[in-house]
Formats: sequence, structure tokens, C-alpha cells
Amino acid sequence: MKKRNELLQLRVNPILCDGFGHCAELAPDLVILDEWGYPIFPDSPFSPGEKERIRSAHLAIRGCPRQALVLERLSVDTK
Ligand code: SF4
Repeated sequence: MKKRNELLQLRVNPILCDGFGHCAELAPDLVILDEWGYPIFPDSPFSPGEKERIRSAHLAIRGCPRQALVLERLSVDTK
């Protein structure tokens, strides 16, 4: 029987993002920059139980000068 699991996913709006990388300074455990300075999120999605990552995600969201980051809730099926 399948169960539904909730995960959190940090996402960037590439149209708003200026690529200066403040988010990577604010949340180095969640955000790295690509070769052009745009954020990527190698360890996302993550569990809502990971309080430190949630804290980091909110720091990055609040610190983004372009309001380009959002933390989305995903609902995924697991076995
Ligand atoms: S802080 Fe915001 S605008 Fe700057 S690189 Fe990160 S997501 Fe883009």
C-alpha cells in the first residue's frame, strides 16, 4: 500500500534571480552556485523534520533581495 510523504523543496524563480548569490552565503548547507552564480539545491527536497535546513531555507528566502526563492511543499508517494 502506498503512503503519501510530505517533503520541502527550495525553488528559485529564474526570471527574478539576479545571480549574485547571497542565498549561498546565507544557506551554504542548502544552496550552491552554478558557474554563472545562479543557485542550485543539491540536497533538496528534504524532510519537514530537518529543522536546521528549514531554518536555512527561511534565512535564504528572507535575505534574497529579489524575492526569488520559495519553499514548496511536495506530496510524494512512497511504498
Ligand atoms: S539571493 Fe535571490 S536573487 Fe540572489 S542569487 Fe539567490 S535567489 Fe538569486
